[in-house]
Amino acid sequence: MSHVFPRHTKQSLPTAVAGEGCYLIDETGKRYLDASGGAAVSCLGHGDRDIIDAIKAQLDTLAYAHTGFFTSDPAEKLADLLIKHAPGDLSRVYLLSGGSEATEAAIKLARQYFVERGEPQRGHVIARKQSYHGNTLGALSAGGNAWRRAQFAPLLIDVSHIDPCFDYRLRHEGETPEDYGLRAANLLEEEILRVGPETVMAFMAEPVVGATAGAVPPAPGYFKRIREICDQYGVLLILDEVMCGMGRTGTLFACEQDGIAPDILCIAKGLGAGYQPIGAMLCSQGIYGTIAQGSGFFQHGHTYQAHPTAAAAGLAVVSAILDRNLLERVNTQGDKLKSALNAKFGQHAHIGDIRGRGLFLALELVADRTTKMPFAPKHGLAGKIKKAAFEAGLICYPMSGTIDGENGDHILLAPPFIISDAQIDELVEKLSTAIEGSLASIA
Ligand code: PLP
Repeated sequence: MSHVFPRHTKQSLPTAVAGEGCYLIDETGKRYLDASGGAAVSCLGHGDRDIIDAIKAQLDTLAYAHTGFFTSDPAEKLADLLIKHAPGDLSRVYLLSGGSEATEAAIKLARQYFVERGEPQRGHVIARKQSYHGNTLGALSAGGNAWRRAQFAPLLIDVSHIDPCFDYRLRHEGETPEDYGLRAANLLEEEILRVGPETVMAFMAEPVVGATAGAVPPAPGYFKRIREICDQYGVLLILDEVMCGMGRTGTLFACEQDGIAPDILCIAKGLGAGYQPIGAMLCSQGIYGTIAQGSGFFQHGHTYQAHPTAAAAGLAVVSAILDRNLLERVNTQGDKLKSALNAKFGQHAHIGDIRGRGLFLALELVADRTTKMPFAPKHGLAGKIKKAAFEAGLICYPMSGTIDGENGDHILLAPPFIISDAQIDELVEKLSTAIEGSLASIA
C-alpha cells in the first residue's frame, strides 16, 4: 500500500522511471511522448546533460545557504541574466520555489509598496475570469476559475474579476480584433471606476492564458490599452508568465510580443524546466526603490527562497534557451505544429478553434462548429481525451471548463522546445486517435 497522498485517490498511476528527450518512460518500458512538458514545464526535454551537470557541480560546491545570512553565486548570476533580458525597467529578482509562491509574493509586494508610499487605502486586486494564478490562498483569490475557487470561497480575499480577452468566445460578430482588444481592455477601467480608483493596487493577468482557457493570446492592442489604464490610475500591472514565459511563446518573456512591460512579473515552470523547483518574481526599480528607501525590508520570505541548487538549474536552463537559439526553434517548430494541427483538425466538425503562440497551442472542442456550443459537461470529454492519449503513449493537457469553469473542453499542448518534425507527426497522429476514440465513446 502506498503512503503517498496523490492528486486523485481513486486512480492508480504508472511509475515514471526515466526521461529521454521528449519522452518519459514508465516501469514497464512504455514510452510517452511528452507533448505538454507535464504542465508546460519540461521545455528542454528530459535528461539534458548540461543542466544535470550544472546541478551536480552546484551540489559539490554548496547545496544550500539561508538567504537571511548569505547570497550565493548562482542566485546572483541568474538574477543578472534575467534582468539583462527583462522588459521595461524590471530590475530586481526575488527567487522562489514555484509559481504560486511567485504570484503570492507579487500580491504582497504590491500591497507593501503602497503602504510604504503612503497610500494604505490601496488594497484591492483586479484580475480576470478564466485565469489561474496558483493554489495558495492569495493566488487562488486572484485566479478566476469558478470550479477551483468554489469550495474555498470563504477563505479567499475579495478580488474583482473582469472578462478575459478571449477572441474565439467573446469577440462580437463583425467586430475587428483591434476594436475587440480595446473593448476588452476598457473593462478594466470600468471596474477601477466602479470600485474607486484610490482603492485599487494591482491588475493581474496572464499575457497568454494557460491551463484554464487553453493558450488564449490577447487581441492586438489589448495590453497596450491595459498598460495605459494602469498608468492613468496608478495601478500596478502584474503579469503572470508562470506558464507562458521563459520562451514558451517564442520570446523569453511573453509580454515582449505585446510591446509592454509590467511593474511586477512572475515566472516559474520553464525557468527550472523540471530539473529543480524554482520560480521568480521580478519587480521594477521604482517598486524596489520604495522598499529600499523605506523600511528596507520586504515582509515576506520562505526557507528555500533563492535556493542555490535551484538557482544553478535556472541559470543553466535560461543560458541553454539563449545560447542554443531555442527561441528561434520555438518559432519554427511552433509554426510547424500549428500547421500540422490545422491540416489534421482545421476542418474537423468538433474542433472549433486552434490557437496559441509559439509552442503553446490549444484546440477547443465543440459540439457544433457554427454555434460554438460546447459538449455537455456530463460527458467529461477532456478527461476522456487525456486518458485515451495516455493509453496511446501521448501526454497532453486537456481541461474542461474552458468557457466559464464548467462548460467547454480544450487540449493544451506545450511540448519541449527540442521537439523534432517526426515527433510533431507522432503527436498529431496520437492526438487524433485519442480525440476520435473519445468522441466515438460519447456519440
Ligand atoms: N500561474 C500560472 C499562470 C500557472 O499556470 C500556474 C500553474 O499552473 C501557477 C501560477 C502556479 O504555479 P505552481 O503550480 O508552480 O505553484
